[in-house]
Amino acid sequence: MHKINQNHSRRIFLTRLSTAGIALALNPISSWAVEEQDPKIKNIVTRIMGIDAHNHMDLPFNKAEFKGQKYELAGELKNSGFTAIAMTFCVDRPALTKEGEAWERFITTLDEMDEILKENGLTRVLKAADLKEAYSKNKQIVIQSVEGGHFIEGRLERIEIAYKRGLRHIGLMHDGQSSPPMGDIYTDPPKYGGLTEFGVNTIKESNRLGILIDLAHCSTDAVNKAIEISTRPMIISHTGLNTQLGGDEQMAKMMMPRLISKEQAKIFAAVGGVIGVWTHLANSPLDYARNIRALVDIVGTEHVSMGTDTKMAPPSNAPDRFGKKTNLSWDNEKQGFFYVVVDALLKTGFAEKEIEQIGGGNYSRIFAKAMSS
Ligand SMILES: [Zn+2]
Repeated sequence: MHKINQNHSRRIFLTRLSTAGIALALNPISSWAVEEQDPKIKNIVTRIMGIDAHNHMDLPFNKAEFKGQKYELAGELKNSGFTAIAMTFCVDRPALTKEGEAWERFITTLDEMDEILKENGLTRVLKAADLKEAYSKNKQIVIQSVEGGHFIEGRLERIEIAYKRGLRHIGLMHDGQSSPPMGDIYTDPPKYGGLTEFGVNTIKESNRLGILIDLAHCSTDAVNKAIEISTRPMIISHTGLNTQLGGDEQMAKMMMPRLISKEQAKIFAAVGGVIGVWTHLANSPLDYARNIRALVDIVGTEHVSMGTDTKMAPPSNAPDRFGKKTNLSWDNEKQGFFYVVVDALLKTGFAEKEIEQIGGGNYSRIFAKAMSS
């Protein structure tokens, strides 16, 4: 009940905000992100490359619905302080009902993303050097990512088609099982002993092409099987340490299967993996920085990144479809996500060099390794 009320008031707030957003779009010079930043924080954000390893952009599977929508991705991305986001979508919501549907949704979304990128003057990372180039030119860029290998539908040749469309980061699993099954999802009872043969082959083909493998939503057995198979370092893009439960008991209970244990985090880091910390179970930037700190204390600064699981740019003219918007991850944020987080990381005792690793250095390192031939 409490949660419903909260959502309701948030929706009202966001509806009002979207009016302000329209005014802002008409007069971009008055942008909030430029004027109110602490120069010290601003300098750090300028010096280092920020990457969000898991940022949602789930688009309508119905082209007519998409036609009327506006996505202010370039502006939001610039305001966030990030150089890049792994721009992620899934095709299993609503649940898939027939063969071919996952592929159809996948292609429709990529077509729509092509349009959004064009309208926003943005491009996708196609080779690892593109990230560094964007950063050195003070530009923003996106890493095309998908959450769940549903689109493959057992036809491995589709991974190469997706690669040619710009896919460079693939999450094997999501909430709904793929057909054929990829393996054990962490929120389902285990029955595949980790990964299926299809799951194994998806990893091999992604390794061959140079697509970063993301093991979020995979059970511990599935992660450990993937470690045996993959010849490249991998990421678990959005999770948190299972000792950092925030203040909401019910939420913590719901999130528990999605969190990683200290033991498993160490196993994953030992094979060169990077773990992204999401904004769930963090009620403030400082909470978020503390959750990052807790994981760093277990695996070291070289194996932690940010993976917010928020939305950089939901349709600006359809506020009812809002999830958690990246730059508004916490109440009253006016600075842009990465600025706020850098500030909190400094307050939590991190040095600039460490913030550079967590902020984007670790992601770009394994991303380059995943793509190298
Ligand atoms: Zn997810």
